[in-house]
This record gives sequence, structure tokens and C-alpha cells, in this order.
Amino acid sequence: MASITLNKLVKAYGDTEVLHHVDGQIDDGEFIVIVGPSGCGKSTLLRMVAGLESVTSGDISIGEKVVNDLEPADRDIAMVFQNYALYPHMSVRQNMAYGLKIRKVSKSEIDRRVEEAADILEIRPYLDRKPRQLSGGQRQRVAMGRAIVRDPQVFLFDEPLSNLDAKLRVQMRLEIRKLQQRLGVTSIYVTHDQVEAMTLGDRLMVLNGGYVEQFGTPIELYDRPETIFVAGFIGSPSMNFLTATARGGALTLGNGARIDIAAGSDAETILGLRPEHLIPDETGPIKVRTELQEQLGANTLLHGTLDGSDEQIVVSLPGHVAASPGTIMSFGFEQQNIHLFDPQTGKRINPA
Ligand code: ADP
Repeated sequence: MASITLNKLVKAYGDTEVLHHVDGQIDDGEFIVIVGPSGCGKSTLLRMVAGLESVTSGDISIGEKVVNDLEPADRDIAMVFQNYALYPHMSVRQNMAYGLKIRKVSKSEIDRRVEEAADILEIRPYLDRKPRQLSGGQRQRVAMGRAIVRDPQVFLFDEPLSNLDAKLRVQMRLEIRKLQQRLGVTSIYVTHDQVEAMTLGDRLMVLNGGYVEQFGTPIELYDRPETIFVAGFIGSPSMNFLTATARGGALTLGNGARIDIAAGSDAETILGLRPEHLIPDETGPIKVRTELQEQLGANTLLHGTLDGSDEQIVVSLPGHVAASPGTIMSFGFEQQNIHLFDPQTGKRINPA
């Protein structure tokens, strides 16, 4: 096992820079998820750690060693791909054994490792089948088995669950988490799915346009997003953003409503409030004109606009709530659940 250090890592294709000075320290045994929208540079970053993409500038270290110029095979990593990358003509056993065979590991050691991994992943009954005789979930397990038998210092996962249906994804992500905890191997996992990222990662690196927006625990990102981007990306449904003006120790919303919070002076501000942090309160300052509701069973999502403006608002309320369209409902919130951002820089203004 090993720590991984990313030091001012840059990737450019020709004149186009797609990763800009990415820094990050990943501890021994940690599970890190790189998350962000399509095109933000996640796969490129992972492939650079794997050695499948060159480094334009900066350094990648695994353990104490800078690996920039090492071939993938010499980096002591194992990668699990989205498309499983299994050899169709080989049995499950042969697929899992292949990487060890070309490293000239002895047959008895290969058998021992393959069978141990098959037991961990509960795929021993399928060892003699071909990949096409397996379900998607079973194939994904074989792909992980192939990584496990290598006994690497680092696991790299590139959107490994995206070919599975929703229910299986949830099950497999729990299995991956359990497996990683059991084996304690330092892991980097790439996904565009923020729920997957939140449930898997010890820490999340949120990328946007090749920049690291924030690198923190799931709870840090949820409770204290450093940028509007992270605030909107983490959490479902997304955080509400209302335009406001700070004046003399209070905020004025777009509809003229006043909110007494220390918000600096005379500046345009974005007020962020998560749907689940709006509390029904007849005297509350947030007046919502309801448009429609989604009954999700355990909770209800009320969609509407800030009364007197066209700014959209979503409120998540526990249980079943019914409101006919056009109803005005009032909401308050707790001070600690307020997020203020600078609309120019997108950066957080208020302390925790
Ligand atoms: P993600 O995995 O987050 O969807 P990628 O890492 O695949 O994003 O891509 C990041 C950016 O780099 C994108 O803008 C993409 O178009 C660009 N890119 C990726 N590979 C190449 C390449 N071989 N040549 C030029 N641009 C590339």
C-alpha cells in the first residue's frame, strides 16, 4: 500500500490545457473519489496516475517515488474499467490469472490468489464460465477480481458501475466500499455521479473545467461548500440559489423580503439554501408560490418560485404534503444552514 501525491499536475493537448495545477495528497489506504461533470478532466487525471497519459508538467508520486516516467506495468497499480475489458475467449479463471501469468508468477501461487479473490467476490461457481455467460454484475466482479489478484499498491476505478442498472449499481457500490475497507488498498475512483461519490469516498476531489474546486470529506462538501459550483453539485435536489443584496447587516431578496443576517455591506450576494433546510414557518421570510409537487413517499418536493419574482425554489418536506398550485407558503431556516457566495468569483463568503 502507498500514499499518492499529485503536485501541480498539468495536462495539455497541444495548446489546450485540460488540467490546471492539480494538487492533492492521498493517504495510505484512503478511498478518494474524483467527481465532476462530463469533460472536467476526471478520466485524464486517473489515466495520468495509471501511466496511460503522459504528464505535461508537475509530478505524480506513489509512495516516495515520482512515477511520471514509469510504464503502467511498473507502477504497481491495478485498474478497473467501465467496460470491464475482459477477454471474451478466456474463462473467468484465465481472465483473472492472465496478469499474473505474464508476470511469471508460479501456477500454484496464481491458483491460490485467484481462488481467494473468487471467494471474496463470491464468484467461485463461475470460474470456468466465459464472460458472455455472466450477468453485468458478475462481469464487474471478475474485473475487480483481476485487480485484486495483482495485490497492487493502488486500485484505480474508472466509472466501473456505469454499465449496470440502477439497483445493481447501489448494491455494487456498497460491495466495492466493503471490499476496499477489507483490503485497505489506497484507491482512486472516478464518477460523474455525486451520490456514488458521497457514499464511496473518504474524501472527494470535485473537478470543474480542469480545476480542483474542493477536496474534502463528503460532510465538509455538504456542510461547507467553498464555491457555488460545489454547492450546486453536491446534494440532491440541488441547493437553491437566490439573488440578494447585502445592506446594513441584512440581506434583501429579489422580491424585497428582508433577512436579518450579517452579510457584509452593499454587495450583490447569492444566498444558498438546501431544499431540506427550509422549514415551514408562517413568519418565515422566504415566501414561496407553489407550482407543483413530487410525492416521493418518504418526502415531498415542492417546486415553486420566490413569491413576487421568477426565481425557482425547491423545498423538501418530510412525509406527504399537498398544496394546490398558486398557494403561498412561508419558510424559515436555521442560521447555520445559510450559504453566502460572491456572484463574481463564485467563492463562499460566510464562515461555517
Ligand atoms: P471526463 O473524464 O471528466 O469526462 P476527460 O478527462 O475525458 O473528462 O476530458 C477532459 C478534457 O480533455 C475534455 O475537454 C476532453 O475533450 C479533452 N480531451 C481528452 N482527451 C483528449 C485528447 N486525446 N485530445 C484532445 N483533447 C482531449
